Amino acid sequence: MVGLQWGDEGKGRVVDLMAPGFDAVVRFQGGSNAGHTVVVGGQKRVFHLVPSGVLQGRLGIIGNGVVVDPEVLLEELRSLESAGIEPKVLLSDKAHVTTELHRLQDEAEEMRRGNRALGTTRRGIGPTYADKAARVGIRVGDLLRGEVLRGKLRDLYSSKEWIGHIIGRLPPFESLYSDLLRYGEELRRYVGRTEYVLNRMLSSGSRVLFEGAQGSLLDVDHGTYPYTTSSNTVAAAAAIGSGVPPTAITEVVGVAKAYTTRVGGGPFPTEDRGEAGEALRSLGNEYGATTGRPRRCGWFDAVAARYSAMVNGASSLVITKLDVLGQLNRVKLGVAYRIDGSTTDEFPSTVEELEEAEPVYEEFDGWRDAGAEVWRRARVEGESALPRSLRDYLRRIEEVVGASVRGLSYGPSREEYLEVGRRAGAPVAAGRQVSRPGGGLSERLLRGQAARAARQGRGEVPGGARGEARRGGARGPADRG
Ligand code: IMP
Ligand code: MG
Repeated sequence: MVGLQWGDEGKGRVVDLMAPGFDAVVRFQGGSNAGHTVVVGGQKRVFHLVPSGVLQGRLGIIGNGVVVDPEVLLEELRSLESAGIEPKVLLSDKAHVTTELHRLQDEAEEMRRGNRALGTTRRGIGPTYADKAARVGIRVGDLLRGEVLRGKLRDLYSSKEWIGHIIGRLPPFESLYSDLLRYGEELRRYVGRTEYVLNRMLSSGSRVLFEGAQGSLLDVDHGTYPYTTSSNTVAAAAAIGSGVPPTAITEVVGVAKAYTTRVGGGPFPTEDRGEAGEALRSLGNEYGATTGRPRRCGWFDAVAARYSAMVNGASSLVITKLDVLGQLNRVKLGVAYRIDGSTTDEFPSTVEELEEAEPVYEEFDGWRDAGAEVWRRARVEGESALPRSLRDYLRRIEEVVGASVRGLSYGPSREEYLEVGRRAGAPVAAGRQVSRPGGGLSERLLRGQAARAARQGRGEVPGGARGEARRGGARGPADRG
């Protein structure tokens, strides 16, 4: 399960819903920059490192691709325990460790960038991945062996003294060392060979859910570089970041918010700096779960989502926060970009081009009348109980993105979720379904092909060759009818 935007799509709550259908939930990239919010029984929990599936009693695996700040992880484990939840967690001995040096370095680098700062979470993520690539990093397994740790930390420490000159402080070596050694002792019981555990589980038929952090547009290769995070966030990273083969991945679910938010710097074509953006921020409580920063808000960008669905191979979509977007009287949907006088439905490679992009919008009425009662009816009677404008909006997203909607989230609690095409009382479907026969709004409400062709004929969507170019193999509603 991956995010198709710039993070904060609501992956945590979707993972929490789907976790009961799986035996383990795995984090495979990112670190404590992530903030996954889950609300259970009116109580809000934010996870930074522990996979959110542990709330459902699943085994939570932190794979080798994650960068682990032991202070944050231990704090999270303690707070779960004090809430009476005994988390089942397994931590890869190969995961790299974020230390105080990395957090300070993150701060120092942002200071040095001045007005070109990336707006990082200052959790030391970039510096930890940089040290990993430079092959000077410290791994979780090193924390368990005092002498090895001392040697590695010594080398690392001596390469980071410049940080002290910029921010005016650096912790003494001995205190860093003894802290890390102590964290190692506290974490020892969780540490293991996650790649062996996972592969054994898979070969004995267990089901495993991979929980992406951040979003595809923050991917260090495929995102809006350099305004990205430092890891690969797309679905393919689940294999590398956990030690399972790519062939083990049977389905990719893309999560997208009904509108778009972004926290930190970088281009954001559909950003709304006016009233609508303000309204989304306050109605949606769009403040960073990790940093508390106000999120930049704007319209759903279907060009970006289509690109994300392509690079991930997402065959189905979960759309979140539809209740928030529906509060607005009019809703806009970005379906193409105009760059330098021409219209395109491809997401640019460079931030310079993306800065130039002017979205082409289509407009819809809001769905303020879709209150709790309407949603409750839709859970029984199906999507036809939803307001027309909402169905049109979703159908158009499916068309442009080229993937079918499988779930709609309209509130933070476990109940406020509608599985598209699900019979009342049936369990929430998850995993092992490479395609969803009969699923997707389009098949039943639209008969996708014809309507799309009609729209293309009217010139509303650029690019007649979209059919082949757009999907890279993942199947959209029109490919299935
Ligand atoms: P870093 O990952 O802390 O280095 O931050 C790099 C960029 O990614 C910044 O724009 C952050 O705001 C953004 N970012 C990192 N993690 C998340 C997340 O979990 N949600 C949303 N944005 C994130
Ligand atoms: Mg978040």
